Amino acid sequence: MVLNVAIIGSGFAGLGAAIRLRQAGIDDLAIFERASDLGGTWRDNSYPGCRCDVASNLYSFSFAANPRWSNTFSYQPEIWRYLQDVASKYDLRPLIKFNHDVTDITFDTSANLWTITTSQGLYVARCVILATGGLAEPRLPEIAGIDTFEGPIMHTARWQTSLDLVGKRVAVIGTGASAIQTVPQIASIVGHLDVFQRTPSWVLPHQGHPVLERTKRLFAALPLAQKLNRAYGYWKRELLLLGFVKDPARMTRAETIAREHLERQVNDAELRAKLTPSYRLGCKRVLLSNDYYPALVRENVDLITQSIECVEPRGVRTSDGRLHECDVIIAATGFFVTDNPMGEKVHSTSGAPLSDAWRGNMAHYKGTMFPGFPNLFMLSGPNTSLGHSSIIFMLESQLNYVLSAIQRALSSNSLLEPTSEAAQRWTSSLQEKLPGTVWGTGCSSWYLNESGRNTTIWPDFTFKFRAQTRRFEPRDHVSTR
Ligand code: NAP
Repeated sequence: MVLNVAIIGSGFAGLGAAIRLRQAGIDDLAIFERASDLGGTWRDNSYPGCRCDVASNLYSFSFAANPRWSNTFSYQPEIWRYLQDVASKYDLRPLIKFNHDVTDITFDTSANLWTITTSQGLYVARCVILATGGLAEPRLPEIAGIDTFEGPIMHTARWQTSLDLVGKRVAVIGTGASAIQTVPQIASIVGHLDVFQRTPSWVLPHQGHPVLERTKRLFAALPLAQKLNRAYGYWKRELLLLGFVKDPARMTRAETIAREHLERQVNDAELRAKLTPSYRLGCKRVLLSNDYYPALVRENVDLITQSIECVEPRGVRTSDGRLHECDVIIAATGFFVTDNPMGEKVHSTSGAPLSDAWRGNMAHYKGTMFPGFPNLFMLSGPNTSLGHSSIIFMLESQLNYVLSAIQRALSSNSLLEPTSEAAQRWTSSLQEKLPGTVWGTGCSSWYLNESGRNTTIWPDFTFKFRAQTRRFEPRDHVSTR
């Protein structure tokens, strides 16, 4: 059977795509999911303390509000449950082919169809939506000798609940968003904790708090009240963009708040100095926490800032020659983003891998379509990530475009792809803008690819992206039958 649309991935993006397609009357869909359950990054990141740093009223589908969020900034189990509920409400489970790991997506020029190779066989589809997400492939640190470690090594995105940390000597490598959430949770149960920091993060106070029962009742009874709350949160975040993009010097105020936060929570001047970043706030992901610094000042916790020399069977050796013995290593070392292996599995009509778009060797159109990839769409594609607001807003914007394109492609039985000129125009305008933003102020981050080019961030107001993805623009595409 030829599918109308093959959706790869069942996280926010894949589920959102299936809902919108079905609402538009497009059937013969399948969602390919490599795991045995849905949820994407919110299924995989089950480490203790995992929480979203965007308020839940905004970090959820506009068409599926949840009046029962228990916290203004929800924890992972509740977000994952939300996705399960959405899948049930829209009856998506029958569409999902679980345990189907997609290994190759190639366009068959003789049949004008995409061939999707999975661990459970071949499928063909007229259109493909890649909804595999940017934070899907955990990156273990490349440290000499890491394979020789005698104990378990666990990435935060592959948390093993069966691994008992109580009383153990634990090393956490990395001090990004995942580490600062899990360190406070495990610090009180482990015997000793060494936190290995390569670069300090800017940490702002967390504003999250439990939602009052009466607020939940209000949101359930009066959906407009929740919509207004969402709109308020949205516009407050859009204003932040002035600092991120228009004038990074505006970040000075937030840096002061972060420094005061650090001073309030850490008395030791030497530790404070180690925790003070030397780059502009916003250049790396801004972190929110009220319990990270207090965890670091605990008796049983050490912040190690000497660089890691190697890992040995019994622990981590730093450049000062010291061996930090440990029973377990936790890698909070992030993801393959600009070098996501998925990009190597998808090929254009001429055989070029999609990963070229992240390398900066291939222009993209609205982060969603690519010349040479007819009827193929990517959600959370190049330059659609954000540093200041909710990625769900961007996803829903992309879905407007994708839906409008797929309707056209299916109804006219045609193949649509952006012209090289349109894609080049789009990509060049972003690349002109990005160096002047906070992400171009000279830090290393997962927003930048190997050559320092920012292929992840959308450097403008999100409402501008919404306007530019509102509907399919025929003049920017070639259409063949
Ligand atoms: P990350 O931000 O990429 O942080 C990785 C950390 O590991 C950094 O501190 C990095 O140091 C360090 N590191 C990497 N390789 C290392 C090595 N070989 N030796 C020593 N240190 C090493 O990863 P993440 O914390 O998993 O977060 C990734 C993204 O996921 C976030 O930015 C965010 O978008 C998302 N996320 C969001 C939330 C949330 O909503 N609150 C929670 C978790 C994750 P350097 O800084 O020096 O590179």
